[in-house]
Parts: sequence; structure tokens; C-alpha cells
Amino acid sequence: MYARKHSTFIVSILVVAALLISFAVAQPNLGVARSTKEEVYNGKTPKYVFMFIGDGMSYPQVSSAEMFLGEQSMPGQVTPQQLNFTQLPVHGALMTQDSTSFIPDSASTGTSLASGYKTYSGIINMDESKTKEYTPITEDLKEKGYKIGIVTSVPITHATPAAYYAKAANRNSYYEIGKQLAASGFDYFGGGDFDQKTGPDGTDQNIYEIVENAGYTIANTKEEILALNNNTGKCVAIDPDDYESALDYEIDRDEDELALADYVKKGIEVLDNKKGFFMMVEGGKIDWANHANDGAASIYDTIAFDDSVKVALDFYNQHPNDTLIIVTADHECGGMTIGYSLTGYSTNFEKLQPVTMSYQEFNKVIEAYKNTNPVDPKLDDLADEISAGYGLNINSLTSYESALLETAFDKTMEGTKPSNDQELVLYGSYNPLSVTISHIVNNRAGLSFTTYSHTGVPVPVYAVGTGAEMFDGYYDNTKVYWKLSAITS
Ligand SMILES: [Zn+2]
Repeated sequence: MYARKHSTFIVSILVVAALLISFAVAQPNLGVARSTKEEVYNGKTPKYVFMFIGDGMSYPQVSSAEMFLGEQSMPGQVTPQQLNFTQLPVHGALMTQDSTSFIPDSASTGTSLASGYKTYSGIINMDESKTKEYTPITEDLKEKGYKIGIVTSVPITHATPAAYYAKAANRNSYYEIGKQLAASGFDYFGGGDFDQKTGPDGTDQNIYEIVENAGYTIANTKEEILALNNNTGKCVAIDPDDYESALDYEIDRDEDELALADYVKKGIEVLDNKKGFFMMVEGGKIDWANHANDGAASIYDTIAFDDSVKVALDFYNQHPNDTLIIVTADHECGGMTIGYSLTGYSTNFEKLQPVTMSYQEFNKVIEAYKNTNPVDPKLDDLADEISAGYGLNINSLTSYESALLETAFDKTMEGTKPSNDQELVLYGSYNPLSVTISHIVNNRAGLSFTTYSHTGVPVPVYAVGTGAEMFDGYYDNTKVYWKLSAITS
């Protein structure tokens, strides 16, 4: 053991020496990069740039989707079925901390990715003092003649999409952000709806009017959206089946409803032109599913996000010398991991296959039950619904699971907010019953979550096409902007 320690010590010294030498050699370059943030790129400039952001998506979200698909298509083979974007030739990783914390939010990380600077959580494209504005890459690209598209599965005024067209001291000033969308002159917005359509107090001019007065066509039925084309001009495609101004969770989406991929497809059709385009696509509901610790919903939305990358890959294959695709994330969410105390070294992804709905849909089932005002409410009353929604037979629970579920059921029927640390750990701000069912199903599958918030773990970046080689390595998220800026200038 001592000998082993000793040799480890010698190896350590050698590694440190090697690092010092390489640092000395690399020093001039590092110095330049750090002082000016400029990246050096001498290659061709891509005409078409796709920037995909999986909100709340780090390796666990990606890998759980691949393991789920692998278990589904090759049961028992322990073979992940790779998503399209993890097969891209360039792979790197990003540090995500912001000026507030190692655990950032989507406003600050959106700012880092879009404009290249750190800021406080909650701020979009402004410095920490909320006085200096940063210019997102989209404004530079628009000036260079690119058309600009912004697509998201959550409200179009939310932090990640807003980081690509707005500046705001407070990410929740949705109405102001909506007005900046109208003034942006950008060419295509698709996906979720505007928040606060008539202002924070409901007394302002309808945002649709402001957007239309700025020359935009608003399409908010499936027919209208499908009719948008290359001659439409500036337009906004708003999902008609929205709930909370967002697309449905993929696991809840009816086949005839538009998917995230459809908004990307339509975006290409609208934006395609000789001078090129830039399209940012956010898989925003990956984040929402992970906040809610809904493993199945996270997996399905990650797959939907991958489907939307596939649309860009098809375009890339038609324009291989002119296209750059970047796929990354802003931060992790939920502290998801693959593994659970009681399942040890096993996973059972097949346990997630019978899940047919998100927590959001199951909450409606619970509300409907509560509205019947049962005289003697008991968990058994919901046995069929739990079985249909999650494939979980409440008569086959372990005593531990059963106790968790009974307590959660009582708390849900009580309808009160979490009142102590234990309840905050068990339920966060979510419906106690549905979040506990999610936890049980996740854990049986070998998945677990540690928080209802974001976490500080790094996120992956994948790239293909013209300039893609710039994105390998492990670096700060602000560098995504500086690299893209170098590639497109
Ligand atoms: Zn989030």
C-alpha cells in the first residue's frame, strides 16, 4: 500500500511537471484568449447555423433516453440506442456557473451562450449592474444578412428564447420581452405562446396587436402554421394546443398535434434564402420535466428534442459544406442520475415503458377525483388510474413505497403547501401524490433525482459541419458565443 502511494506520488509529480511545461508553451494563446475573449478561426463561414439548446439537459437526461430506447429495442442487451445528436463527430463540455452561483438559471446561461458574458441569475443580456446591455449573436448575424429563427417548446418570452432577441433586467418582465420580440425584426418565431399577453396587470395593449403592427403574421392554428412558407415574410407560429403557453409534453402529445420537430421543419421552409439563416431551437420542457422529477417525461422530451435535431441533420446532408449544427444545453436540472440506493448496480428501464402520461396530465386525474368530494377518500380509489398512467399496481408495492404513497395521498387530499423540510424534500412544490408516484417509478427503473431545482454539473456540446471542430474540449459556456462569433465573422 505504501509502495503504491509512493509510486502514485512520483506519477503525480510527473503529471504536474508535464502540465507546467504545456502551460508554459500554451501561455501566449491562453493569455490572448482570456484578455479579449476572441477565438481564432480561419475556416469557411457557414451559411446555415443551427443552435440547439436542451434546457436542463446534461448527461443523465441524454443517457437515460438512450438507455430507455436501448432497453425498448434490445431488451436485456445493456446496449444504449444512441440519439442522433450524440453521434455528431465533435463533442465537448461546458462549465455553466453564472455570477450568482455554481448553480445557474436559464437567463444568465442564455446570456452566456447568446452574448458571451456572465451575469446574475434572472438577467437577460445585461451586466450585473443592470445598466450595460450585451448584444446577442443574432443581432450581429441579422446585420450580416442572415435570417433569424427562434423556436421553443415553452413560452416564446421565456429566458432561453428571449436571450436570443431581448435584453431585460428581469426575466419575468414577459410583456416587455414580447414587445422586444416585435421590435427585433427577426424572421421566424415558433412554438410556445407569449406570457402576459395584455401586460402584467392585464390592462395593456394585446401583444398580438403590437406584433402584427410590427409587420408579423401570427399563425395560431395548425392550418395557419402549416400554410406559412418562404413568401410569408416575418411570422410567429404559436402552438394551438398549448397549456401554460407551452407545447404539450411529448409523452402527452396527440399524434396529430405539432411536435417541436415540425416547428423546425417549418422554420427551415420560412427562413431558407441565399444569404443563409441562424435558427436557435430550445427543448424547454426537458427542464420542466426534470424540475418535476418526472423521469419518463424527461426521456420523451429529450427524444422529441433529438427528433428536431434530425430535421436539421437532414438539411445538413443536403448542404454539407455550408451548414453548422451545434447541440448543447444551458444547465442540468433535477440532479437526475442513473442509479438508486435500493436498486444498486441494476437498472430496469422497462419499468418506464408503461408510463403513458406526464405528472401534469395525472394531476388532472387527481383534481377530477378531488372534485367528486369523496366522503372517505382512499388511495385505492385511484388504483386503476395509477395503473393506467404509470403501469404501477398499488397492491404490489413494498411497505416502504406504500407508506410513501399513503402519506402523499393524504397530503394531496389535504391540499396544503409543504410545511416542513421533510415535505419539501419529498414533494418540492409539486402535487405530493403525482410526484411520489414519479419517484417510485423512477426508482424502480434505477433513476433518481436530488433536487427540484437546477444543479451545477457541466453540460455536453455536440457539433457537426463547417466550423464544428471549434467546439471540442472542456470550456466555459461563454466561449460558445465567442467561437460562433469567430466562425461567422
Ligand atoms: Zn429550469
